[in-house]
Amino acid sequence: MVPSPIHVVGGGLAGSEAAWQIASRGVPVVIHEMRGPVATPVHKTDKLAELVCSNSFRSDDAETNAVGLLHAEMRLAGSLIMASGDEHQVPAGGALAVDREGFADAVTARLSAHPLVEIRREAVDALPPADWGPTIIATGPLTAPSLARSIAEESGASALAFFDAIAPIVHTDSIDMSVAWFQSRYDKAGPGGTGRDYINCPMDRDQYESFIAAVLAGDKTEFREWEGTPYFDGCLPIEIMAERGPETLRHGPMKPMGLTNAHNPAVKPYAVVQLRQDNALGTLYNMVGFQTKLKYADQVRIFRTIPGLEQAEFARLGGLHRNTYIDAPRLLDGQLRLKSRPQLRFAGQVTGCEGYVESAAVGLLAGRFAAAEALGDPLLPPPPTTAFGALLAHITGGHLSSDDEPGKRSYQPMNINFGLFPPLEAGTKLRPDGFEGRFRGKDKTLAKKRAITARALDDCREWLGMTSSQAAK
Ligand SMILES: Cc1cc2nc3c(=O)[nH]c(=O)nc-3n(C[C@H](O)[C@H](O)[C@H](O)COP(=O)(O)OP(=O)(O)OC[C@H]3O[C@@H](n4cnc5c(N)ncnc54)[C@H](O)[C@@H]3O)c2cc1C
Repeated sequence: MVPSPIHVVGGGLAGSEAAWQIASRGVPVVIHEMRGPVATPVHKTDKLAELVCSNSFRSDDAETNAVGLLHAEMRLAGSLIMASGDEHQVPAGGALAVDREGFADAVTARLSAHPLVEIRREAVDALPPADWGPTIIATGPLTAPSLARSIAEESGASALAFFDAIAPIVHTDSIDMSVAWFQSRYDKAGPGGTGRDYINCPMDRDQYESFIAAVLAGDKTEFREWEGTPYFDGCLPIEIMAERGPETLRHGPMKPMGLTNAHNPAVKPYAVVQLRQDNALGTLYNMVGFQTKLKYADQVRIFRTIPGLEQAEFARLGGLHRNTYIDAPRLLDGQLRLKSRPQLRFAGQVTGCEGYVESAAVGLLAGRFAAAEALGDPLLPPPPTTAFGALLAHITGGHLSSDDEPGKRSYQPMNINFGLFPPLEAGTKLRPDGFEGRFRGKDKTLAKKRAITARALDDCREWLGMTSSQAAK
């Protein structure tokens, strides 16, 4: 018997991929896409999967780049977005860039021609009633306001954000711990604290003053007209705080109070940059209070002048954008279902992933989960060692919240990156050629990445062959 249709609200990157995965499993699907009758401030056409800005899917290197690995896993999973991207590739070195018109035309044509796909050009103004059955909400960073209001009513207003205020995130193993040290302010152990919750980077007066001067002089991006300027207390960009006076940051996020430099206890730091543990694995730390509109190149240049961060590798740089997304770790279960109404799933950027490829990947997962459920053989989530699993684990629980700081949302959008993957098991051979010599420096970093991606692709292949009943056998 053919199951009832699954509804997908939003025909962007995530919704198109979700619909394709559902239809490919023999389950009918209805896409509700508002473009046509209703515009968004950034889309220019009514095509499905329109790329609103750059035409790049970023690195296509599946061996040493996390987004390249995600491409590879999506190709293994029969992704429509990747197949259409590959068909309409334009030269871009090691990146996968696409002809945006050809790409969106291809996605639109493949879905329109599929006998199990119906496309309705209409806005969905509220979370659908129970009689719609299983539904995936994939309405993206510019979710229409009426639907956003309905999501806020269901989830609680504090669980829906309209801007991201992103502080940079650093790979823990790139922080120089001979300069920085672990300590919570006043040695307070918060709930679940381990004593490794915060890393501190000390500055003397000269270093602080040069830092403030560099922040003030740095190149900034502007808000676009339709974004407004969403400054509110608690998430002022560091450059705005610095403009308010040279001491403002030293009395705000860079205050040195309650901290003693473990490497030099006799000398009180003039200012301190704190980094807070960001994920349960402890592989990532975010720079507390460092949301910024500085351009990326200047962020890297200026933040690497902070003592202890000279060699910092950034999993994500800071930003402030118009973006609609839910507090997914709190609201969604491990299969992207809304805990309070499990027939609703969320997918794409509205879950707090970031980027075209990540949004499509989360759509792919939501589509597969929904189709498997409709067919009566639910799918196990992908292992966290895969790029799919690492991204899903981040969205649905890997991120640490900051309940100790009321009023501050710490769940912020994130691209896929190696910091989201579990570390390699002890004893993993980094040299597949059997040579016993040790890697050092950059070679070691690359060898580790190769081992992580090889593990991921093996585990992904296995997962793709597996449903819960197969796994139980
Ligand atoms: C200005 C801007 C620039 C960006 N630039 C980049 C970039 O260069 N590279 C990158 O990787 N990422 C970029 N992003 C992020 C990018 O939007 C997402 O990565 C990606 O498009 C998100 O995919 P999605 O499917 O979640 O949302 P979208 O692709 O936006 O799709 C959501 C769809 O839902 C529809 N919709 C919304 N509300 C309703 C409703 N109530 N009823 C029916 N349909 C509805 C919309 O019309 C849209 O088609 C940018 C985002 C913005 C806002």
